[in-house]
Amino acid sequence: MNASKVYKRSIIDLFRLGSCVLCRHSASVQSGLCHSCRATLLPAPAPACRCGLPCPSAAPGGETAQAAPLCGNCLARPPAFSRICCAHSYAFPLDQLFNRYKHRRQLSAERALEQLWQAALPFPGPLPDALVPMPSHWRRRWWRGFDPAARLAQQAGEQLALPVLDALRRTRATPRQQGLTAARRARNLRGALVACQPVAGLSLALVDDVVTTGSSAREASALLLASGATDVQVWALARTLPGRNW
Ligand SMILES: [Zn+2]
Ligand SMILES: [Zn+2]
Repeated sequence: MNASKVYKRSIIDLFRLGSCVLCRHSASVQSGLCHSCRATLLPAPAPACRCGLPCPSAAPGGETAQAAPLCGNCLARPPAFSRICCAHSYAFPLDQLFNRYKHRRQLSAERALEQLWQAALPFPGPLPDALVPMPSHWRRRWWRGFDPAARLAQQAGEQLALPVLDALRRTRATPRQQGLTAARRARNLRGALVACQPVAGLSLALVDDVVTTGSSAREASALLLASGATDVQVWALARTLPGRNW
């Protein structure tokens, strides 16, 4: 979509800010969504494993890094991060909002997602010393014209008075990870991220918009810990559930 189309779309969008982003209903709109659309948002799984996926054997309320239990997958391959905190599950109608925001840059969808993010913060448990946005490749940022993870990190930093460190850089674009085996995902990501700022002695939260397979979060966390971070948790607006092929 070219710049003038995006601009026209944004202007049209401004007139819609008083109605529900999804169904255009104008009654009891809060955070850009009407009451019934808000009621259909799927919360993040609970109880959940450290990877953020449902884990029936986990005790609810395991909010500290040490208490976060492991699912079968994580028992076989423990992640470097101590936990994933997600505001919602990536499901209808949140996927619609993300689609409008990321692919059409719809202003009202962006505002609704921002407000859902603000409402979710702070996640229960210990606050990190600093936030690190999950880096995207420059070509993707250029194509999109913005970086969703960086924007969420910036907002969280302002809301919680935490510094935001661009501590990681993506050196090459990586193919979609969904549907690949763990070994293939690890191979795809090897060497795709580099550390570019000192993080020694800091506890960090890696911020992403959507955690899909969790492979990037694993890779990025391992790199931050290898660079001297004392702990890495992952914060995201949404987590893809198993069986959802996005
Ligand atoms: Zn609605
Ligand atoms: Zn797990």
